[in-house]
Amino acid sequence: MDLFEYQARDLFAKHGVPVLAGEVIDTPEAAREITERLGGKSVVKAQVKVGGRGKAGGVKLAATPDEAVARATDILGMDIKGHTVHKVMIAETAPEIVEEYYVSFLLDRANRTFLSIASVEGGMDIEEVAATRPEAVAKIAIDAIDGVDKAKAQEIAAAAKFPAEVADQVADVLVKLWEVFVKEDALLVEVNPLAKVASGDVLALDGKVSLDDNAEFRHPEFEELQDKAAANPLEAAAKEKNLNYVKLDGEVGIIGNGAGLVMSTLDVVAYAGEAHKGVKPANFLDIGGGASAEVMANGLEIILGDPDVKSVFVNVFGGITACDAVANGIVQALELLKSKGEEVDKPLVVRLDGNNAELGRKILTDANHPLVQQVDTMDGAADKAAELAAAAK
Ligand code: GDP
Ligand code: MN
Repeated sequence: MDLFEYQARDLFAKHGVPVLAGEVIDTPEAAREITERLGGKSVVKAQVKVGGRGKAGGVKLAATPDEAVARATDILGMDIKGHTVHKVMIAETAPEIVEEYYVSFLLDRANRTFLSIASVEGGMDIEEVAATRPEAVAKIAIDAIDGVDKAKAQEIAAAAKFPAEVADQVADVLVKLWEVFVKEDALLVEVNPLAKVASGDVLALDGKVSLDDNAEFRHPEFEELQDKAAANPLEAAAKEKNLNYVKLDGEVGIIGNGAGLVMSTLDVVAYAGEAHKGVKPANFLDIGGGASAEVMANGLEIILGDPDVKSVFVNVFGGITACDAVANGIVQALELLKSKGEEVDKPLVVRLDGNNAELGRKILTDANHPLVQQVDTMDGAADKAAELAAAAK
């Protein structure tokens, strides 16, 4: 989960990383009172989960409370790279910025380690610096067990050639940022700019944090950080039911057991769809090993609730949960939905294979549901589902 700047700033403050005061608002008029409290001037910053806000005109200084209201009016509702600005942060203005640095910690999957990236040439052009002069950007591997203590932080500061007068302060910031990274279970913490201001102090003026969703179970507070307004309603409903669901932009609803099987089902349906008006998979949904009637009903309910879906492909390979249990699950799921008053009006193509496939197929044949048809091969079933979706398109 990516955080907004103001949420990142709150986490930085919690762990002692030096930041400036600020508050987040969603109406322009609210900027006045905050700016008055901040001493009459402020910086108005668009809160969108995308970089380059400064260059897009989403970061503006305001010299008076009136001006803060005017800038907030300009920025709220603005589109920055496809993201609409719904909130702005009204922050204390930094004392005169002398230099802008870049520091970050991230998970380096390719090298199976953590990584610190640091540069004394931070600010809005860091991407260009990294592309054209990679030698100006230091990359230091971090051992997962040893982490970042003051000595390691000094090593990073030295590798990035931070000037002597700020090296110690930068090292302190790095130790605290590492604490944010570990304690908050982040995959990325980034500060750009880490600014040296006229007083000589070093301040984190902009932060980017991405938290590890897999660590949600030990952070109940992550829940509040979620951007409910931006979440896809189907994905949110699926999450509530503990389903592994991802909305895609096609027309063929997909249910399968096991992430690998579902991934290959997406490929097979996309391929089959080429011959049927270009229909594509409408979602990823892995109902996992259990695949009880209830889980099947929950899955079907989500997929049938998607107005883009024109047909559904249920692709199950029986393993520990045998096909007869899955077939019963499908039959019961359809009854469950009917008893809840939810009309099932989209064709279902079911392919059962693996453990007890024969018995599973017989259960579906005997149930004789008007919307369910069986195809015994994965390719054949994908083709059928694509054909039915194309016919309804
Ligand atoms: P980004 O463009 O999305 O990365 O947004 P930033 O928050 O990094 O802001 C862009 C630029 O605005 C920074 O590189 C700074 O030069 C400038 N900036 C940000 N905050 C302040 C501030 O409080 N005072 C001043 N004078 N400049 C700021
Ligand atoms: Mn920035």
